[in-house]
Amino acid sequence: APVGTSKESGESPGSMWPKDLILLEPGETAWQVVLKKIRELSDGDVQDPFMVANLDVLPRRHQLFHQALPRVSPFYAVKCNNNPWVLRVLAALGTGFDCASQGELEQVLGLGVPPSRIIYANPCKPVSHILYAAHHGVQLLTFDSEEELIKVAQHYPGARLVLRLWTQDSESIFSLSTKFGARLELCEHLLKSARDLGVAVVGTSFHVGSSCQTPNSFKQAIADCRCLFEMGLRIGHDMNFLDIGGGFPGEEGLDPKFEEMAGVINATLAQDFPEGSGVEIIAEPGRFYAAPVCTIAVNIIAKKAVVQPGGHRKLLYYLNDGYYGDFRVFLRDPEPKIPIVVKELGPEPPLFSCILFGPTCDAFDKLFLEELQLPELNVGDWLVFPTMGAYTNVMTSTFNGFPPASICCTVGPELRSLLESALQTGTWPEWRRF
Ligand code: PLP
Repeated sequence: APVGTSKESGESPGSMWPKDLILLEPGETAWQVVLKKIRELSDGDVQDPFMVANLDVLPRRHQLFHQALPRVSPFYAVKCNNNPWVLRVLAALGTGFDCASQGELEQVLGLGVPPSRIIYANPCKPVSHILYAAHHGVQLLTFDSEEELIKVAQHYPGARLVLRLWTQDSESIFSLSTKFGARLELCEHLLKSARDLGVAVVGTSFHVGSSCQTPNSFKQAIADCRCLFEMGLRIGHDMNFLDIGGGFPGEEGLDPKFEEMAGVINATLAQDFPEGSGVEIIAEPGRFYAAPVCTIAVNIIAKKAVVQPGGHRKLLYYLNDGYYGDFRVFLRDPEPKIPIVVKELGPEPPLFSCILFGPTCDAFDKLFLEELQLPELNVGDWLVFPTMGAYTNVMTSTFNGFPPASICCTVGPELRSLLESALQTGTWPEWRRF
């Protein structure tokens, strides 16, 4: 297929589309854009890493979420990937947003998203950020301690509080429960304290850990929330809001499958929060939406071959992105990601044990904990990693003077017209409630 037909936006003077947005022609794909950029960079002197965000993935993920969890409204977790175009597309699709700080609240409110579509879901908040939420009408706030209740009662007594429950998340790849969540046995005290302090608790939330490995974690946590609802109602709170958090898979094909997880969630909701119970149900998916959006291309800037005892060769590849760039989160993941090698190789080339290092002078700067098997490559060759949209560009630094990978977004004709009307009118389409 022909490559190079995409028009970089901003080419025509006065265009509403900025330079970091590539408008795809009908039939053109984001993958073709990646390959074209690699060819262009390989012909020049600078082979810096770059990321391509395929925004057309977002409507597909949104549809899948809605089909699989029809009773649950997604409030996208901004922390996962706060690229302005990702947020604009999600706003246009009608999601809500989970914000963790004043900075994220500012970003989402700045898009024109109404505060009613935002939850400030960080149980431990700076007072100044609470005041910001109060000033801008963001009412839903999570808490998991008495100290936080006292702070909110003093600075934002009109808040609608959501009690974050502790979950057993040791089987999730990224556990959160060592830091957040009130144990069930402490919740009665917290609910009574809230009543005595005069602050309203409207519901409960939890997070089963990011990249949850067992759908049963949702089952247990939703059942615990049912107990909390009973407790809250007895104590005098008007409990009508359930937030089942994030933890949904960002990669297709991995177990547990999203559909399987959704099946367990739907069945548990039907039992504990049946339709017609008047409870609003939301989730805070992050990687589910963002992971499949981005592809990153990195270049081999240096290489060493080491002969090991027994005569085996091990290859050390030094890449121009690593732990201090877009790969920070992967050192906490037991499985390495397998890159696509952009090079003509013979059929079944021999594979070698390889370590992928990042570019800084720190020996800790590796991409993955485990070695992986790759063919023999050379300085100047490119590795491409798909599914790189979650917890990547949001975590980059300029350590050792290496700037983060550049990011450009691609948008196809259909999504383009949705965005165009939103940008022209300055308003987002009707908020869609499920
Ligand atoms: N909500 C909260 C409170 C979180 O802390 C996180 C991730 O850390 C998320 C949602 C998003 O989780 P995930 O990306 O696993 O869906």
